[in-house]
Amino acid sequence: MGKKGQAVKHIIVIGAGQAGASCVARLRAKGFDGKITLIGEEPVPPYQRPPLSKAYLLGEMERERLYLRPPEFYDDQNITLQLGRPVKGIDTDAQTVSVGSDILNYDDLVLTTGSTPRHLPTSIGGDLRGVMVVRGLADVDAMAPYFAEGAKVLIVGGGYIGLEAAAVASKLGLNVTLVEMADRILQRVAAPATSDYFRVLHRSKGVNIRESVGLDHLTGADGTVTSAVLSDGSLLDVDFVLVGVGIVPNTKLAEKAGIVLENGIKTDAFGRTSDPHVWAAGDCASFPWKGQQLRLESVGNAIDQAECVADNILGADTAYAAKPWFWSDQFDVKLQIAGLNTGYDNVITRETGEGAQSNWYYAGDTLLAIDAMNDPRAYMVGKRLIESGKSPAPTAVGNPDTDLKALLKA
Ligand code: FAD
Repeated sequence: MGKKGQAVKHIIVIGAGQAGASCVARLRAKGFDGKITLIGEEPVPPYQRPPLSKAYLLGEMERERLYLRPPEFYDDQNITLQLGRPVKGIDTDAQTVSVGSDILNYDDLVLTTGSTPRHLPTSIGGDLRGVMVVRGLADVDAMAPYFAEGAKVLIVGGGYIGLEAAAVASKLGLNVTLVEMADRILQRVAAPATSDYFRVLHRSKGVNIRESVGLDHLTGADGTVTSAVLSDGSLLDVDFVLVGVGIVPNTKLAEKAGIVLENGIKTDAFGRTSDPHVWAAGDCASFPWKGQQLRLESVGNAIDQAECVADNILGADTAYAAKPWFWSDQFDVKLQIAGLNTGYDNVITRETGEGAQSNWYYAGDTLLAIDAMNDPRAYMVGKRLIESGKSPAPTAVGNPDTDLKALLKA
């Protein structure tokens, strides 16, 4: 409901990405017939980001296929799409947002502003030409000319995006070095068994993975990066550098408007922020989960949370029940993840041949999460078990002769 108990008239969504597009589509699908405005600072219609470090970077996907909906969808649904328009401010008392010289009134406002990649500090050469991040379509279009066969690329950070970019670069015949400051790649997100699997994969394809080694600084000539000095003192000639060292949620607008932050824009279980007419979803938003404010950085979360917010604006009163899932493509391996492994104390590895492996995370007897590499069956079963709160015995899971589907019936 909007101001003074009237029916909602105008819903504004700030951030025309995955969550924003899902929210507006859901509002219409659920029968909302008021005004909807979706405002984005990028000059392109809402698009999917995952292919930016996979098929699109590899040159195997047309730009139009990135779009979440055909551009005419928004007109057809009577959704006003304002692109290339960064929102500058929100006045929660007046219930307005300012964009360009316009002041727009809202009854409900949804913040789906996403996140920004961490950049290297200028003091270590982060502003040199040829030092890039992989976040948006513009970033990837700008880096395409650098992906020439034989070029030397340094990738800083061994998380999913860094590893995916390394796989693409290697496939295209570049000379790839990846440095990870921690003692193993994927340390923040996965068990040693998963790190081991991907280290072996990358090395087998010629990627020079260097763990426990960070970047000390970059040097350049005429403002363009030419070499990197690593934390172990070694010197590397480079043609360009890709930085994949994590993201920070885009919270500035919310903060300026006096909305409470905690690990992102803080929402309650229904997606509502500290202001009753302002909601948030996607990478920028945190929600209550096991006594903390959790923030997830994934497509699945952006869609589900945004749809939940849309439903709640329309009065559903449904708490968000996160069902985390994620994927990554590297070389010919598809990694699929279900659940959240936070707090695991035991990992069971199941190997069923030809590179198919799954790692099952337990806390005591409770199954928390699964990483499945080229094993869609293990992923599918693991996901269903986790979502239905079932925990098969670790010994059964680890035995390659166990019929996984039978575990669902137990
Ligand atoms: P976004 O999609 O980032 O959209 C936010 C939008 O808000 C942006 O367009 C931004 O410009 C806009 N915005 C911000 N501030 C303003 C403002 N003031 N005014 C107007 N507009 C504003 N997830 C997976 O699940 N699987 C994967 O394999 C995977 N791979 C990925 C690969 C890459 C290279 C990247 C970058 C991400 C990947 N992700 C993956 C993560 C996933 O894409 C994000 O979690 C998802 O896009 C989050 O959706 P969102 O709507 O919250 O944010």
